[in-house]
Amino acid sequence: MVRQEIPILMYHHVVPADKVSPLAPFAVSADLFSRQLTWLQLAGFHTVTLGEFFDLREAKKRCEKREKLLIITFDDCPANLLEHAVPELIRRGMTATFFAVAGKPGENNDWDRGEGAPEIPLMSSGDLKSLADGGFEIGSHGMSHANLRKCSPEQIRWELKESREILEDTIGRAVQFLAYPYGEYPEGYAGYCREAGYRGAVSIFSPVRTVTTDPYCMRRVLVHEGDNGMRFRFKMSRLYQRLRYYVDKRVLRADG
Ligand SMILES: [Zn+2]
Repeated sequence: MVRQEIPILMYHHVVPADKVSPLAPFAVSADLFSRQLTWLQLAGFHTVTLGEFFDLREAKKRCEKREKLLIITFDDCPANLLEHAVPELIRRGMTATFFAVAGKPGENNDWDRGEGAPEIPLMSSGDLKSLADGGFEIGSHGMSHANLRKCSPEQIRWELKESREILEDTIGRAVQFLAYPYGEYPEGYAGYCREAGYRGAVSIFSPVRTVTTDPYCMRRVLVHEGDNGMRFRFKMSRLYQRLRYYVDKRVLRADG
C-alpha cells in the first residue's frame, strides 16, 4: 500500500537570490532550489504527480519506493519557473504539478496588488501546453485566484468548473486537481470539487490527521528561503507531517 503521509511541497517563485526578499515567504532562490532537489535525490525521494500518486493508491500497488514518494507542486505558474525551476527538474528526471490561474495566462499575478505585492508575469497558454507535453501535470488554481471562502456558491462553481475546462482546452488533456487560492477551501468543498469534475484538491492546512486521507483537502509544506540544511530535512520527515496536524488544528481554530 502507498503511504498516506507523504510530503507535498508547495513552491511559488524560483528567482535569482537578489529577487527573493520582496516575494518572501513565497520565493526560493534558484541556487537553494537546485540544492534542495539535489538533497531530495540523494535522500532517495522519488517524485510523482498527484495523478500518479492517486493511480498508485487506487491500484493498491505496492510501490517499491513507497517510503520515499514525494509530490512537488507550484502555485500561480509565474514565468520565472520556466527559467529557474523547470530545467532543474528536467535535468534530474523529476516531475511536478503546476497550478495555473485559468483566467490569467500571459498576464501578471495582480490579485494581491492591493496588498502591495510585486506583480510578476505569469506563464502563457503556450507555456502551460509545453509543460504538459513535457510530462508535467497541470492543475487548476481557479479562474481569478479568488478566495473561495469569500465567494457565493455560484461563483465557486464557476471558478472550479470554468477553470478546469479552459485549462483542458489549453493543454489538450484532463485537468484533475485543484489548488485552493490562499489555501482557503470553502464549506462543502468536497461536494463542489466532485461536482466540477476534480479527482482531488490541495490546500496548505488540513483538518485531517494524515496528509492525503481527505482527497479534497490535502496538506502541503510551504518551502521558503529559510529552508536550508537541517530545517529542510526536518520538513521532509514523517514526524513533521504528523506534527503539522496539531499546528493546523490551532490555525484552523483561530480562523474560525
Ligand atoms: Zn496562489
